[in-house]
Amino acid sequence: MVEGLKEYTISCKGLKNGASTYSFLLDNDFFSQWEESEVLSGEVRAEVELIKASTSLHLSCHIEGCVVVECDRCLEPLTIEISGDSESDSTFDGSTEENEGVVIDSVEEEIQLADYLYQSVLLSLPYSRTHASTEECNPEMLAKFKIVTEEEFERLTASEGSLAESPEAAKLAELKQMLENKE
Ligand SMILES: [Zn+2]
Repeated sequence: MVEGLKEYTISCKGLKNGASTYSFLLDNDFFSQWEESEVLSGEVRAEVELIKASTSLHLSCHIEGCVVVECDRCLEPLTIEISGDSESDSTFDGSTEENEGVVIDSVEEEIQLADYLYQSVLLSLPYSRTHASTEECNPEMLAKFKIVTEEEFERLTASEGSLAESPEAAKLAELKQMLENKE
């Protein structure tokens, strides 16, 4: 368990039978614990309810907030609102000879929620992660990936006339030429 994720751990020792609720904030520190994470940063509130019975644990979780991911189209940062619900059931192991049946050996047990919460965030991400329209995307990146049509590219670079002398405009014109040659 990574040091920075200890606050997302619940000790079973103090957990009574019945329902208990917890609230967690998944912030930039949280998301930075996963290397090469799809989630670059974020602020997500997680409400967790645990219902403990003698040998089982039911967990339900609601997450809501904003995360920053890469736009699939232009690779620039994209903020998206997420919300989602998930549930999980666990069974406790352990038994003692003094009691009939299986009991919860809760002394050493703890519930580590960090991975679960992180996966819940990933599962709540939309399948398509792009800026709302190509106009919000970085036009140079779009041209580089040849994702836009020629017409769209011309519209996105319509102002290039006024920038004709800049090296950026020359580069765009070159890319445009490449797109035309590809036809
Ligand atoms: Zn984009």
